[in-house]
Amino acid sequence: MPVTHHELSCDILVAGGGPAGVPCALAAARTGAKVILCQDRPVLGGNASSEVRMHIVGANGTGKFDRGEELVTEARESGIIEEIRLDNAVQNPQRSASVFDLILYDKCRTEPNLELMLNTTVVGCELHDSKIVAAFAERPSTEDRFKISASIFIDCTGDGRLGAEAGAAFMEGREGREEFNEPLANEKPDSQRLGSTILLQARKHDKPMPFFAPSWVRPFSKDDLKLRLYSNPGEEAPTHEYGYWWAEWGGTLDTIKDNEEIRDELLSIALGIWDHIKNGEGAERFQADLWALDWIGFLPGKRESRRFIGQHILTEHDLLSSREFKDAIAYGGWSLDLHPPEGVDAPDTEPCIQHPVPRLYDIPLRSCIARDVENLMFAGRNISATHIAFSSTRVMATCAAVGQGVGTAAAVAVAEGQPASKLAENRQAIETIQTQLSKDDAFLIGHDVIASTDPGRSARITASSEQPEGPASNVLTPQSRSVHGSFGVENGRTLTGTHRWMSEPQAGFPAWLRFEWPTGISLNRIQLSFDTGLHRHLTLSHHDGYSSSMQWGTPQEETVRDYDIEILIGGDWTRTVEVRGNYQRLNRHDLDPSLLIEALQIRIHSTNGLDHARIAAVQME
Ligand SMILES: Cc1cc2nc3c(=O)[nH]c(=O)nc-3n(C[C@H](O)[C@H](O)[C@H](O)COP(=O)(O)OP(=O)(O)OC[C@H]3O[C@@H](n4cnc5c(N)ncnc54)[C@H](O)[C@@H]3O)c2cc1C
Repeated sequence: MPVTHHELSCDILVAGGGPAGVPCALAAARTGAKVILCQDRPVLGGNASSEVRMHIVGANGTGKFDRGEELVTEARESGIIEEIRLDNAVQNPQRSASVFDLILYDKCRTEPNLELMLNTTVVGCELHDSKIVAAFAERPSTEDRFKISASIFIDCTGDGRLGAEAGAAFMEGREGREEFNEPLANEKPDSQRLGSTILLQARKHDKPMPFFAPSWVRPFSKDDLKLRLYSNPGEEAPTHEYGYWWAEWGGTLDTIKDNEEIRDELLSIALGIWDHIKNGEGAERFQADLWALDWIGFLPGKRESRRFIGQHILTEHDLLSSREFKDAIAYGGWSLDLHPPEGVDAPDTEPCIQHPVPRLYDIPLRSCIARDVENLMFAGRNISATHIAFSSTRVMATCAAVGQGVGTAAAVAVAEGQPASKLAENRQAIETIQTQLSKDDAFLIGHDVIASTDPGRSARITASSEQPEGPASNVLTPQSRSVHGSFGVENGRTLTGTHRWMSEPQAGFPAWLRFEWPTGISLNRIQLSFDTGLHRHLTLSHHDGYSSSMQWGTPQEETVRDYDIEILIGGDWTRTVEVRGNYQRLNRHDLDPSLLIEALQIRIHSTNGLDHARIAAVQME
């Protein structure tokens, strides 16, 4: 028998390493739990990986409903997804899909509490009563099988394989209007859903390049594409580097069971569109002679499959009214983004209709905890939401924020010996989870960033200079971003203001921010949250036009680049931290707790472009 059986154990098993699973596993591991992450593919990232190549978007919206406004509405997600985006923007100026895979792999590989198992598919589980005791996984590449015991199991597989194996209740298809009283829902329920897509990339050469279409590609005419791009020249032309999110199909089938059939049809659709552009009637309009196909996915990007039934089912109303949830662990803000399930088979229907969500909204922990399996949680596109609500929560930065929230919650549950199923009703546990998320720079609507016990609160705070709208004391305001704009957080749950210290441009550099205590204090750690332009888009996209609207290939201009931390002891200043070339938002520094510090000063020598220094929050322990 070539197959080897292994027994493994951990605190938390995360199944699926996509946009939700990676932040989930990292957050759980960084919060102290022993984590195993099983990913069935050779690379991490799910729909954002080099195997699919979709760009990560989130609460800041897009196009005609772009929420971003500097110092007014900063909706881009922070926390782990921001760390990943900033790494990607700086380390991957060439916009390589494989470099993004590598960044995710490196984060997981170097996380001490995390064991990454690639090419490993979770295929089943063992239950005692309503509790999962172990999951079964297979790694065909090494002919190994694993039984993995854990306290908490988190399904981030998108398809919901782990939860389905555990018998957790789930929804599929579209709910009828009456079921949740949702105006945007179809009158009658059906089994249809958003379809899947295969993307492609093309490259411009210095001589005409042919395209030999296989015999099985679908023919496309101008009329077939009349409501899609590439019907008329100039819409995307003269560049053809990346397409086509709207080459969608399979939503009338079962996106899990029929996935192989869907893949074959999607290949014929994507290549048929390319053939139309290269060789179709009137193709010269597209000026695509010099362009050649460079890459095409063989893995369908899957939009929708199972959605679990959790302790709360998020609905259209929750999102449109920005309903407040006391157990919020993340937020969203993308439009309700609905597509015809027939995809390109519905040429007379717009490929998507985006219904704006007026304000940022809470995502509660209860939508990420199974109703019927005691220790099953979930994050990503399979959370407990109606088809309509899912159409907003499904975007990848929102999945990542939920992933971080769920991973953090699971680690807190393990540390406190709490069952996952009881977490959301435990006020104390929720406070611990939310405080940890704030410490980790994940934004939660209305939750104070600075703890009431933070030593900074007892200090006198001064600065080398300050702008009237950015006083030094702002580093201790309850928020570390501005979200008071009309597309931000509703009044009463947010404060106006810039929520950051901003030095005077005329005063130049170095600029400093100082904390002084009446008597010496001992500090274990200081963490700084810098400004990274959260009002802007920032994502790896293979679309040149979209990418050119971002600060890609460089650090974000607002971010502090070079700084020192100096401490005053016995009347002498000593430099304890020296950072050069920073581009990250969250920076943590351990301090020697045996020292009695009379004052602490952050001395900023430069930013990555801005003419003055900005710090959004300073937290100390
Ligand atoms: C064509 C297309 C366009 C889209 N456009 C955008 C967009 O522009 N921006 C945006 O943000 N979002 C977009 N979305 C939505 C977004 O991509 C998904 O909602 C998101 O990827 C969901 O993240 P996830 O982590 O839940 O799932 P997935 O991305 O599906 O990741 C799940 C991961 O789990 C792995 N897995 C599955 N089963 C198992 C198992 N049994 N064991 C182990 N591992 C397993 C999978 O291989 C995968 O890597 C688009 C989706 C598609 C398909």
